[in-house]
Amino acid sequence: MTTTLELLAPFSGPAVPLEQVPDPVFAGLMMGDGLAIEPLSSTLLAPCSGVVSQLARTSHALTLTADNGAEVLIHIGIDTVKLEGRGFTPLVRQGDRVAQGQPLIEVDLDAVARQVPSLQTMLVIANSEQFAFPRRAEGLLAAGRSHFLTLAARGDVSLRESAGGPECRGEAVVRHEGGLHARPSALVQQAAKAFAAEVAIEFGGQRANARSVVALMGLGVAESDRVAVIAGGADAAAALEAVSQALQTYSAAGHAPAAAMAAVVEVEGRIAGVAAAPGLAIGQAVRLDAFDMPLPERGQDAEAERSLLAAAQLQVRGAIQRGIDAALRRGATAESDIFAAHLALLDDPELQAAAERGIDAGLSAGLAIRQSIRAQCAVLSGLGNQLLAERVADLKDIERQLLRALYGDAGAAPELFAASILVADDLAPSELTRLPRERVAGILTAAGGASGHVAILARAMGIPALVACGPAALALRHGQQLILDASAGLANPQPDAAELAAARAEIEQLAARQRAMQASANAPAITRDGVAIEVAVNIANADDAREGVAHGADAVGLLRTEFLFIDRRQAPTESEQTEAYQAVLDALDGRNAIIRTLDVGGDKDVPYLQLPPEPNPALGLRGIRTGFAYPEMLDTQLRALLAVKPLSRLRILVPMIADVGELIRLRERIEQLAAGMGVAELPQLGVMVEVPSAALLADQLARHADFLSIGSNDLTQYTLAMDRCNATLAARIDSLHPGLLRLIAITVEGARKHGKWVGVCGAMASDPQAVPVLLGLGVAELSVSPRLVPEVKNQLRGLSQQQCKIEAERLLSLSSAQAVRGRVVELWPAA
Ligand code: PEP
Ligand code: MG
Repeated sequence: MTTTLELLAPFSGPAVPLEQVPDPVFAGLMMGDGLAIEPLSSTLLAPCSGVVSQLARTSHALTLTADNGAEVLIHIGIDTVKLEGRGFTPLVRQGDRVAQGQPLIEVDLDAVARQVPSLQTMLVIANSEQFAFPRRAEGLLAAGRSHFLTLAARGDVSLRESAGGPECRGEAVVRHEGGLHARPSALVQQAAKAFAAEVAIEFGGQRANARSVVALMGLGVAESDRVAVIAGGADAAAALEAVSQALQTYSAAGHAPAAAMAAVVEVEGRIAGVAAAPGLAIGQAVRLDAFDMPLPERGQDAEAERSLLAAAQLQVRGAIQRGIDAALRRGATAESDIFAAHLALLDDPELQAAAERGIDAGLSAGLAIRQSIRAQCAVLSGLGNQLLAERVADLKDIERQLLRALYGDAGAAPELFAASILVADDLAPSELTRLPRERVAGILTAAGGASGHVAILARAMGIPALVACGPAALALRHGQQLILDASAGLANPQPDAAELAAARAEIEQLAARQRAMQASANAPAITRDGVAIEVAVNIANADDAREGVAHGADAVGLLRTEFLFIDRRQAPTESEQTEAYQAVLDALDGRNAIIRTLDVGGDKDVPYLQLPPEPNPALGLRGIRTGFAYPEMLDTQLRALLAVKPLSRLRILVPMIADVGELIRLRERIEQLAAGMGVAELPQLGVMVEVPSAALLADQLARHADFLSIGSNDLTQYTLAMDRCNATLAARIDSLHPGLLRLIAITVEGARKHGKWVGVCGAMASDPQAVPVLLGLGVAELSVSPRLVPEVKNQLRGLSQQQCKIEAERLLSLSSAQAVRGRVVELWPAA
């Protein structure tokens, strides 16, 4: 096997140092080290022989796994993913073996150049830490003929450079609190990686490669332990000094920002968190990290399994890197350090070598990586050091991410107890929805926020959920019995018999009250002074629609169509979509449905869209902006909507509108598509008010819209400048903030000028303390989770809109959300 690899120029054109390309992700070497080129020829040629281990669906990028293991990622142009494949013709397929110089992708340079900021093509080595780059090309190059980049496996360099070279030895006293656990080990690894020299740490008769985090952790070095540092190679002296310094630098052992975690109530012996979905439950903890996903035992052939593993590592690396970027942007350095340690674990040479040995022995990629990680977990658990033992969770997290990247979520369901309380750091919506609903009694997570998508799902499914509980959640044992009082923001991890009996009685009382309200759920919600308020439901599919009807919903106030698009490999087709939307209308027994166009981007990811990494996802390509960026996808959805019958019962809702120009553009497009389909009757068109500018310009929007619907989750996030997914802020991101109430008042006033109605479809509509306030502010529709319809209707029937109006106006002059809530409780004690 060759360890030095000469790459040839993939295009003709001038070489460009990677640091100079106009994309911070590549320029910052986040994807790996390498070289760029300004293409003057139109056929991308293979710079080396290898296997096409990944070919982007949109054919603007591919990865070649070279015979020496180098992952050669070639990305043509900047922002080219958004062209959706236009201008690129792939000449090879994923899995093909290609020879050096073989044509890979044909590029229509003129067409692409007109639509993107730059054609510069980046060639990076995704696993560049394993290589040195002794030669990089400069000047004008000829495709397939000029030298481009030389890679030398690190082992080669150090051997060559250390031949006859000095070996330096030194000693260092480890100052990191808790010893060499994951983050300090990652710091030491970073220091070692900057040099060609081989560096080893010796302790307790064992030697560890300083570039391997798991090997370093496996030494079991505690705080104040003295270790030997040995470096060999040309730059050994400098490496020795840098690594020694990294060992001797103090760092605190604390994990995530637990101290800053805004838990709502602190009660001795209880776990406190943010109530994401109300309710009371008794159940046994199910640690979602405590089960094993079944894996294929034997692999295909070793080469294929190696490529699969490499592709999974690339995917997980990208996800972790995005986590680091997001954490750094929020200034959450403790969090970014943890992710950085995960990145180091993912790239760990010792884990990699063990996995490769497993693959060579015939194991599947998944089993090989699991065995390699589990062996290391066993070492760490056996060291008798609590901090190191806790790092097992980090390793298992990496294992889970890799296995998910390799095999998806299928079959990864844990065994549940009859009444299970799911306990996890955080939950993905797919993790929740694949579990049998009847066994899930509650949710308790360390991270998360009240308006995250799991919270939304939990409310929709009627599952009590407590989120943002911090590390206390993760101290719960699998099988441990607990009382989860999500409404009170507390969990009791060690209930005694009397507490359990009291909780059981309360659960029974709540159920009886629920049954009583259900009996009158079908009647309209008319206030004491005779105002009818529509109580609609937020849903994801036809089953939810049926559930809404069963609970007395007057209509569907929001169908989030993204649930149709996520967790799959391709976008749903037009007919698939029409069928799904029609099924919702059919389930409604003559009621109306508001269906929202696809709202992805930000915290809602759709992998096959390959949305470009963004410095600020929540402020980037989101909602209708994504729709306009992928016009074919938007058109498909609009056509699918225009095909449902009867259109008089359909209302289309547009997410994330910032001003009237976007609305007019969309309305015109709907009209064009309808004309093309011969559809005469147009459905009503509504605007989501979830950006402050939309609220402030509501009068302009209402002139062109048929109705407005306030997305209070996002409107709160953007008004308060607080990330709705940030657990640390979860208790402060409160929709009853007077700033938000004023925006709602402005929205209602703007709509009134044009005789249009305003609804609320964010989580605020389901908040009993917000209901009288929204009624007072003039909101005409509340769209809530299906199970909450009877309760919200019951509450509205007990209120007078006139009195609520007078009080709501006074609330606008208060100065904080707490002040508003305090006053609401005085005015409407039952709320
Ligand atoms: C909202 O932002 O309030 C809303 C209803 O939309 P989503 O929660 O889906 O972003
Ligand atoms: Mg929203």
